Amino acid sequence: MREKVRVSMGTLRVLGLEILATEADPTTAYLQTYHSGKCLSNCRFCAQARDSSANAEHIARGLYPPRDTQEIVSRLMKAYEHGLLRGACIQTMNYQSMFDDLVYLVKEIREGSSIPISVSIFPFPKNSFEELKALGVDRLVIPLDAVTEAIFDGIKGMQAFCPYTWGGHIKALDEALEVFNRGNVGTHLILGLGETERDAVHLIQSLSDKGIYSALFAYTPIPFSQLRGDVPSIGHYRRIQLASYLIESGLSRFDRMRFSEDRIVDFGVEDSVLEETISSGRPFLTRGCPDCNRPYSTESPGGVIYNFPRPLTRDEIKLVKEQLKK
Ligand code: SF4
Repeated sequence: MREKVRVSMGTLRVLGLEILATEADPTTAYLQTYHSGKCLSNCRFCAQARDSSANAEHIARGLYPPRDTQEIVSRLMKAYEHGLLRGACIQTMNYQSMFDDLVYLVKEIREGSSIPISVSIFPFPKNSFEELKALGVDRLVIPLDAVTEAIFDGIKGMQAFCPYTWGGHIKALDEALEVFNRGNVGTHLILGLGETERDAVHLIQSLSDKGIYSALFAYTPIPFSQLRGDVPSIGHYRRIQLASYLIESGLSRFDRMRFSEDRIVDFGVEDSVLEETISSGRPFLTRGCPDCNRPYSTESPGGVIYNFPRPLTRDEIKLVKEQLKK
C-alpha cells in the first residue's frame, strides 16, 4: 500500500516524529515499502517471514512502524537540505505489488530531492534494475545474508521453503553490477550463522574483487522467529570485521591471510600497519553504502556494540583490541 511506508524509530526521531533517547542518530533514513501481511518468502532469521510469529514491525532489532508516505517524504527532503540525513535506504519485502510500491516511493523522493538512494532488494530481472537506475536509485544491495551456499540453503533457500537460490542471488549481483557499476552494488552478510572465519573472508574477497561491498550484521535472535540461535562471539565478529576492512581498503587479501582451525591468525599486513589500522577504529564502524551507520540495528542500547555508528572512544579501542584476541 503506497499511502504508508515503514520507518525506523531512529529515522522518525531525526524527522521530528518520535521522542527517543539515543547515543547516535542515523545518518541515513531507513525505510521499508509497506505491506500489511507477511512476506511471501520465509527467511528463517526474519520477523516478517511467511511462517514467523514474531512482531512483523521488526527488521533485525529495529522497530519500523508504518507512517504516512507523503509526510515522511516531505520531512525527508527537509532533513536532507539541512544536512540531518545524507542518504535514504529503502528496504523491501516479498509481496505481489512490492516493485510498483518501490517505484512509487523512489519517484516521490526523487521528484523533490537529490538525496542518494540505496535500495535493498531480492533478485529481479535485469530490466527492473535498469528501471530503478533510470528513476535515480544510486546503489543496489542484494542481501546474500549467508557466507556459504550451504548456510544460504538452510536459512533462505530450499531447506527454509524459500524461493531463493545462491546461484540466483550471485547472478542478480552480477547483473546489478552491469547496471550500477563497481562500487555501487553491495550485499548484506549476517555473521553468527555457523560460518567459519575462512569462509566469510573468502567470500568478502571474491565479492570485493568484483566491486561489490559487504555490509556486516551480527545475527540477532528475534523472539518467535523461526531460527533459534545465539549472537556471534565478539572475537569472531571483530576478526572478520577487521579482515573485511583490510580487503576493501586494499591493504590485504584473503590469500595473504593465515588461518588456524578456521580462525584468522595472520591478517597479511605488517604489524605496524595492523596496529595503526586497529587504533584508527575505522574497521569497527558500520560499513556498507556511504553514510550508512544503522544505529542499534543489531545491538541493544547498553549491550555489546558490533558495528559502531559513530567514532570509537579511546576506551572502546582498548576494548576492541581485547575482543580481537577472544
Ligand atoms: S548498507 Fe545500509 S544503506 Fe546500504 S542497503 Fe544496507 S542498510 Fe541500506
